[in-house]
Amino acid sequence: MTALEHIIKQKIRERGPGGYMDLGEYMSLCLSHPEHGYYMTRDPFGQKGDFTTAPEISQMFGEMIGVWVADTWIKMGSPKKIIILECGPGRGTLMADAMRVTKNVDGFHDAVQLHLLEMSPVLKDIQKDSLKEYGATWHSEPESVPTDSPLIVIGNEFLDALPVRQLVFTETGWQEKVVKININDTLRLHEIGLKKEVKSLLPSFLIPPKLGDHVEVSLELNDFINKITKIILNQGGSALFLDYGFNQMIAGETLQAVKNHRYCDIFDTPGQADLTAHVNFADLSHKILEKNMTLHGPVSQRDFLKRLGIDIRAENLHRLATQPQRVEIDSALKRLTGEDTGNGEMGTLFKVIAFSSDSSIDLAGFA
Ligand code: SAH
Repeated sequence: MTALEHIIKQKIRERGPGGYMDLGEYMSLCLSHPEHGYYMTRDPFGQKGDFTTAPEISQMFGEMIGVWVADTWIKMGSPKKIIILECGPGRGTLMADAMRVTKNVDGFHDAVQLHLLEMSPVLKDIQKDSLKEYGATWHSEPESVPTDSPLIVIGNEFLDALPVRQLVFTETGWQEKVVKININDTLRLHEIGLKKEVKSLLPSFLIPPKLGDHVEVSLELNDFINKITKIILNQGGSALFLDYGFNQMIAGETLQAVKNHRYCDIFDTPGQADLTAHVNFADLSHKILEKNMTLHGPVSQRDFLKRLGIDIRAENLHRLATQPQRVEIDSALKRLTGEDTGNGEMGTLFKVIAFSSDSSIDLAGFA
């Protein structure tokens, strides 16, 4: 039993007979418990870690995001100061590639103030090193970002790490799936009636559900979007999020655990596997529109990166490359933009969404 499993069981037992923990709290403890949380204790990326993200596959990914950010800044009228806020920067690779590729954009680097939203002390140390040239400031909450300038917010595989709660449609209506302890002392899922705070998150335009349908809702994602849209409406700006997910309201159970590049049970090794849920882009779009923001997308990562010119970038890199490097560039391009054939291609599984306070700005990559 992991140390965190012990802590979780103790918490449930302290709640008395019938005690339980909702999945959001379980996911949040697994990812961010100060001592035993998954992100708090390790660098999870790459072959030696548990999973690989797009910026770790190829420099081309961060470069395309850099092009998007600089283009957005120009379309905003090249303000003298621009806050770039990256949410969940991982190893800082995406931002390092984005900054390097934009260094010749006239006036851009002089205007940029880099801000990073990161909860992991381990990853913060790695980011301090990879982004040391750019003088970043770290935050644990979006509200502490300065309020005096417009901003551009980005996040790759950030939203999928925010805790979700799972609802299932039964003969007695929607029920919530929560964590309980079995007689044999293992953790298991159990259905209970809906609590008020969860009911309020059920999308209002949900199509009539069928028995067994699942919906995942996230108080944290809701809260995060409320905060970011408020900041952008006050200060002016745009946001870009890339993540895996789907664009229909009811899409089943997507909460998953990954360890050593393999799926495992969410209760196998609490705190030692990455837990994520697919992003519900249909619900997210609805929330963004409700805030009176201009919505762009969602579009597939494939279309987005191609519209930004990733094929041309790959060709240019080819010219400077050795034969083995060319093979690497081609395989990275396929992984980032290819259609899902079960070999880790991200092109269609991953979606891109953006929103802006200014309806007159035509953000790149969406049409
Ligand atoms: N964007 C990076 C990393 C994605 S992993 C990449 O593409 O490689 C998720 C990142 O979000 C990690 O840096 C993790 O520590 C951070 N994170 C997850 N939940 C967070 C939260 N609630 N607040 C701040 N950072 C969080």
